[in-house]
Amino acid sequence: MDLKLDIEELIELRHRLHANAEVSNQEEKTAKIIVEFLEQFEPHQIWVNVGGHGVIAQFKGTKEGENIGFRADLDALHIAETIDLEYASKTPHTAHKCGHDGHMTMVSGIAAYLQQNPLDKGNVYLVFQPAEETGEGAERINRSLKELDIKLDYLFGLHNLPDFPKGKILTKKGTFAAASRGMVIKLFGKTSHAAEPEYGISPVIAMAKITTEMSRIHRTLDFSDLTLATVIHSELGEIAFGTSPGYGEVRITLRAMKDEDMSILIDEAENLVHKYCEDDGLGCEISYTEVFPSTINSDEAYGIMQEAAALMDLEFKQLETPFKWSEDFGQYKLQYKTGFFGIGSGMDCPHLHDEFYDFPDEIIGDGVKMYIGLLRYFGLVA
Ligand SMILES: [Zn+2]
Ligand SMILES: [Zn+2]
Repeated sequence: MDLKLDIEELIELRHRLHANAEVSNQEEKTAKIIVEFLEQFEPHQIWVNVGGHGVIAQFKGTKEGENIGFRADLDALHIAETIDLEYASKTPHTAHKCGHDGHMTMVSGIAAYLQQNPLDKGNVYLVFQPAEETGEGAERINRSLKELDIKLDYLFGLHNLPDFPKGKILTKKGTFAAASRGMVIKLFGKTSHAAEPEYGISPVIAMAKITTEMSRIHRTLDFSDLTLATVIHSELGEIAFGTSPGYGEVRITLRAMKDEDMSILIDEAENLVHKYCEDDGLGCEISYTEVFPSTINSDEAYGIMQEAAALMDLEFKQLETPFKWSEDFGQYKLQYKTGFFGIGSGMDCPHLHDEFYDFPDEIIGDGVKMYIGLLRYFGLVA
């Protein structure tokens, strides 16, 4: 394996993806760049427009063996490029500030490797998923994989992690990243003259109670692990000093390390909302958006990742605490055995979603190596 030869080509790919950044559900050009890149390595099959702009490439071994999937995410963020890069994003107010350009590049590196080192057995599926940031992509890809009758023995994914040494592989038994979802509460009352609030039904008191109670719900209920409700937005009536409001909206991000705690939090939040609305004779409507299940590693998955890192002489560390952010990779555990790990992007790397963030090219090789380690673990390559 001469990874060094391929790295320059991979760095070029990363820069091309970075320059053509696209947000969730608009990843058309990104998908095209990926397909063009993959085609030169002659995969057995490529599917396009999977679950939106998703791409899946299959590499096939000559003998029966495990079916292993590797997932990357395609989308950038609505954050303007403010750093001076040769390959700066050409898309207005859009840039890769979560490093998904790097994730795609590392998974593409598997294709380059497999052309030089063909699979001995089994199948490898490179899964390029759209719309990670909005939490929609994984669910759609899951459905497509089922429709395409693609069975996976394991699906692996990674995220780069600022504040950890470059190239270090980090993972955790149990919860790796939290579950989260956006709760949208709509309160329907009745307007009246501001001088005669008694003739109307204002949502103001119910809204005040909901925002106060939800902000301290993590202290009033017994959860098994960190659980949070963060009120992120509220809106009441119109700016009209003559009118008592008849409509209000509250938006709350629910977050939990455990899916069980998330269920309790949802039940309790809904009960509170219904109670306060009933008390005041308000109509209410609750809906959810950006639903991310927790990302969890079984002991088996953890062991596999630890061994794969050891096979490739990569530095490996078990994380102490899970991340409070969410990853829609958690969705795949509902359908497949999954393993998720982090790769350090450097102690001086700006945080994810920070305008000064840029994926460090130096860790591309380590990411590809880790994927090769996983293929070796399953005996798919020598
Ligand atoms: Zn992100
Ligand atoms: Zn991300």
